[in-house]
Amino acid sequence: MTGVTMEGTDAGGRAEIEVRGLRKSFGDTEVLRGIDLEVARGEVVCVIGPSGSGKSTLLRCVNLLEEPTAGRVFVGGTEVTDPDVDIDAVRRRIGMVFQQFNLFPHLTAEENLVLPQRRVLRRDRAKAVRVARANLERVGLAGKAGAHPAQLSGGQQQRVAIARALAMDPEVMLFDEPTSALDPELVGDVLAVMRGLARDGMTMMVVTHEMSFAREVADRVVFMDAGRVVEEGPARQVVGAPREARTRDFLLRVL
Ligand code: ADP
Ligand code: MG
Repeated sequence: MTGVTMEGTDAGGRAEIEVRGLRKSFGDTEVLRGIDLEVARGEVVCVIGPSGSGKSTLLRCVNLLEEPTAGRVFVGGTEVTDPDVDIDAVRRRIGMVFQQFNLFPHLTAEENLVLPQRRVLRRDRAKAVRVARANLERVGLAGKAGAHPAQLSGGQQQRVAIARALAMDPEVMLFDEPTSALDPELVGDVLAVMRGLARDGMTMMVVTHEMSFAREVADRVVFMDAGRVVEEGPARQVVGAPREARTRDFLLRVL
């Protein structure tokens, strides 16, 4: 266990991620207007919604890349919005994958995984290399350990970025439009890796425009608009038979 304080969740559930009354403003602009959300252990929740609705800001508030203006966020029962929390300890428990892969261009795929394990987790080199190789294999890139990012396709680079996050043994994984920067023919391999993680029981929050992925893999889909959760429920309901007009309008535009 890390050095952060443990605390029970208000809802008393077994939520791995719990968001309560979350608000975030940038200057005069309120981007998140009171978000309540739970992700249970092992659950996959897809967050969908129009551009600018606050999806990225929501994820960034969960791992404290942004400081919420109001509200509380719990991860694994620890209140990450507690002012006394050890932010680094919290971040270590949360893997994040962005649209842009942000790999170090001068390092091999394997070294991209080794470096954060050494720096952040203080793992010895032999262990870091072992974990790096196991996770590159997990994303189907065992043969690319020695390749530099420029020698890899966008889809392969994104899989390295996923492996890099996994190498840190996160309790939850957050994905922010992980396939949006990819050529269409490379999207499938990345989604296949994410499907595998879901099957292995990883707790995941995934911002995506891939409705087929949401329908197939998500336990729940959350539709956001203008900083609020407009509708949430099982994927087959929210994507297949939305109740709210705004959800229907959005789906008509992306499907
Ligand atoms: P989404 O991911 O759904 O497209 P974002 O969370 O990126 O939405 O952004 C929601 C709104 O917040 C947008 O209007 C965006 O311009 C604004 N925003 C996001 N980050 C910042 C920031 N750092 N400073 C000012 N405005 C921001
Ligand atoms: Mg975004």
